[in-house]
Amino acid sequence: MSAAKATSGNLFADDPAFQVTAQTISVLPPLPLAGPYDYLVPEGLSVAPGDFVEIPLGRQTQRGVVWGQAKGDVESSKLREIYGVLPTEPMADVTRRFVDWVSAYTMAPQGAVLRMAMSVPDALEAPKPIFRFTLNRDFDAASLRMTPPRKRVLEFLGTHPPMEQGDILRETGAGASVVKGLVEAGAVQRLMVTPPSPFDLPDLSIPRPDLSDEQTEAADALCARVEEGSFSCTLLDGITGSGKTEVYFEPIRAALAQGKQVVVLLPEIALSAQWLQRFRDRFGVEPALWHSEVGQARRRDTWRAVADGSARLVVGARSALFLPYHDLGLIVVDEEHEHAFKQEDGVIYHARDMAVTRAHLGGIPVVLASATPSLETLANVEAGRYQRVELGNRHGVAVLPSVEIIDIRSDKPERNRWITPTLKKRLVETFANGEQAMLFLNRRGYAPLTLCRACGHRFQCPNCTAWLVEHRAWGKLQCHHCGYQAKAPDTCPECGAEGKLAPCGPGVERLFEEAVETFPDIRIEVATSDNIMGPKAATELVRRVHNHEVDLLIGTQILAKGYHFPMLTLVGVVDADLGLAGGDLRAAERSYQLLTQVAGRAGRGDRPGTVILQTADPANRVIKAIAAGDRDAFNEVELSQRMTHGMPPHGRLAALIISGKKENEVDEAAWRIGRVAPRGDGLMVLGPAPAPLSLLRGRYRRRFLIRADKGVKMQALIHDWLSKVKTPGSVRIQVDIDPYSFM
Ligand code: ADP
Ligand code: ZN
Repeated sequence: MSAAKATSGNLFADDPAFQVTAQTISVLPPLPLAGPYDYLVPEGLSVAPGDFVEIPLGRQTQRGVVWGQAKGDVESSKLREIYGVLPTEPMADVTRRFVDWVSAYTMAPQGAVLRMAMSVPDALEAPKPIFRFTLNRDFDAASLRMTPPRKRVLEFLGTHPPMEQGDILRETGAGASVVKGLVEAGAVQRLMVTPPSPFDLPDLSIPRPDLSDEQTEAADALCARVEEGSFSCTLLDGITGSGKTEVYFEPIRAALAQGKQVVVLLPEIALSAQWLQRFRDRFGVEPALWHSEVGQARRRDTWRAVADGSARLVVGARSALFLPYHDLGLIVVDEEHEHAFKQEDGVIYHARDMAVTRAHLGGIPVVLASATPSLETLANVEAGRYQRVELGNRHGVAVLPSVEIIDIRSDKPERNRWITPTLKKRLVETFANGEQAMLFLNRRGYAPLTLCRACGHRFQCPNCTAWLVEHRAWGKLQCHHCGYQAKAPDTCPECGAEGKLAPCGPGVERLFEEAVETFPDIRIEVATSDNIMGPKAATELVRRVHNHEVDLLIGTQILAKGYHFPMLTLVGVVDADLGLAGGDLRAAERSYQLLTQVAGRAGRGDRPGTVILQTADPANRVIKAIAAGDRDAFNEVELSQRMTHGMPPHGRLAALIISGKKENEVDEAAWRIGRVAPRGDGLMVLGPAPAPLSLLRGRYRRRFLIRADKGVKMQALIHDWLSKVKTPGSVRIQVDIDPYSFM
C-alpha cells in the first residue's frame, strides 16, 4: 500500500528512472489525450511511479497514474499540484510498460490504453471495511447484568472466531441491541477488518486425470516452461478432441503452485459453460471471470483481487490482459486463431499478439492453443521464435470424423429448401440410430435479404451499406452491423405492391422451419447469439443436449467451438461456401479454421462421426483440404500465395479508416491524405477507396491499405504521413495495425 508517506526529500531516490530530485512528476489520466502531463507534488506528500493519484484536469478532478519523471515541457511555475494519492496498490511497472508498448504499437493514445487497465473507477476507492465481534477475554463478566440473550451471545462468541453481526444474530436469536449493549459494556470487542477476497485459493491437491503418453509429454514440456520462469511462447498444436485443455491445465497448476497468478483468454467466455465446469473440477474453485457480462460490483471486487494477488486464476475475454496483475506467472490463449481476439473499436489490437508482448515484458511463458493455428503463429514457429508441442490423436477411442462433400448443383434440394436429399438421408439414419446431429449455418435470422418481386426493391439499412436481415420470430428486419430495426412490412415501400415481398436465401430460422417440416417427430433446437445470450442459457443448452432432450441442433458459429457432445455423430454444413464469398486476405484461412472447428464437434465419443459439406464449388481448395484432412498442405499453399503478394505473415499490413458524417468532408480528407501518401521500396499504399461498408452506423468510410516489407517501421511511417495533413475534427482517422477486418 502506498498511501501518503512522509516526504524524504528525494522523492524517487530508490528508482533509477528518477535521477533528479523531482518535485514534479508526470501523470497519465485514463483519457484519449496526448499523453502524460506534468504536475507538482505538494510539500509533505511522497509519490512513487505507479501510484494512483487524484489530479486537477481542466475544471475537473481526474484520477491518473504517476507515469514517471516530469517531461519538463511546461514551466514549473505553471504546473498544478496533485491532490493526493489513492489508497490502492500501485500499478506495477510491467503493467505501465505494457500500456506504453500497446500504445506505441497500435498508435492509440497512452491514456486510451490506460483506460482499459483502469476500467473500474470504483475499484480505486478503499474497500469498505466490515466489522466483526469477538469476546473481550479480559472483561470481568461478574460486573455485567446478565440476560438470557446476552448469555447466548457470549457463549457463542466464546467458542467461535470473530463473527459478523448478521451471523451472531442468526445463530443466537438475539437482537442487534443485545450485541450493541455488550460492546458498550466492554464485554465484546468490535473489530474492523478488511473484507476477505471473494476468491478462494485453488485446490492443488486434486489429482490430474490419467494422461496419455502423448498428453504427458506435451504437459511436461509446458510445465518445464513454467519452471524456467522466463519468457517463452509455445504453440499447443492439437487436433480437435485431443485434450488440449487437460494438457494446459498442468502448466496452470505448476504456475499456481509457485504462488503466481494465471490468466486464460477465451474467445467467447460468456458461452463457455462446459469449459468452466471442467475448470472447477480440476482446481476446485470458481475462477475470477472477466468479460462484458460481469456486473459492476463483481468487476470492482475482481479488479482489486487481481491487483492484490488474491485472485489467482483469471479467465476472461481479451480485456483481461489489461488487468493490473500483482504477480502474473502464465498466460494461456485458447483458440489462438480466433478473430474474436481482435478488438475493432477504440484501441484496435489483437489480444493474442498483445498476450505474447505482455508475457515478454513480464518475463513469463505464454501458451497458445489451437487445432488450426493462425498462419502468423505457424510462421513464428517456423522462424524458431515460438516452440511447438503437438497432440495428434483424439482422446480415448475417438477418431477424427470422416468428411463427405455434396455438390448441391447435382444433389439438389427442392426450391427454397437447403437440405440436400443425401444430407436428409443421413439425418434420418442418425436419428434412427439414437444419435444426435448438428446443422451449421453461419447466418442469424430468417433470410439475409428481402426482395419485392413486383419492383425489385431490396430492403437496406439506412445507416449502413448492408441488407436488412429478416428475423421472423420477432416480426422485424434488422441490420447486423448497427442494430437498426424496422417492423417487417406487408407492402413494398417502393411500389406499394401487397404480398409480393419475398425472403431470399436461408438463415437459421428458415432452416429450422424446413427441419421441422422434414422431421416432424424429432426434437430440434436453434442456437444463435439471439437466443443463447449468456452463461445461463448456454449451460441450459448443454444440459439438454447432454441429456439427449435434443436430437437436432441448428446453429451458427457459436456452436462451432469447444462443445463436447459424445452422442453427436453427424455435422451438416449447409453452406460451406459462405465464408469464402468475401474474398478478403484471410477468407480462406478463416473458412478453413471455422469448418475444421465445426467438423470437430462430430464423433467425440465412442461412436465415429461424419461431416457433410454442402457446396457449389467442390474443387475449392479449402473444401478439398477439409475433406482430405490435410492442414499442412492447405497452409503451405496459403502461405506461398501470401508470400507471392508480400502479405502477412510475410509482409506487414495496416489500414487507415477515414470516416465522418458528411460524405464530402470524408472524401476531401481522404483525398488530401492520399496526396501525401508515403512512397518507397518495399511499400505499397492502396486507396483511398470506399470501404466495402462505405456507410456504417451513419458514417461514411474510406480506406487506405498499406502493405510493407517486414523491415519497414510501419508505425513511424504512418505517424510521419499523418502529421503532414490537417483534417477537420469532424473526420475521424483510425489506424488499424495488422487488420483482420477488411470491411
Ligand atoms: P480439445 O480442447 O483438444 O478439443 P478437450 O481438452 O476438450 O480437447 O478434450 C476432449 C474430451 O476428452 C474432453 O471431454 C476431455 O475431458 C476428454 N479428455 C481428454 N484427455 C483426457 C484424459 N487424459 N483423461 C480423461 N478425459 C480426457
Ligand atoms: Zn445498419
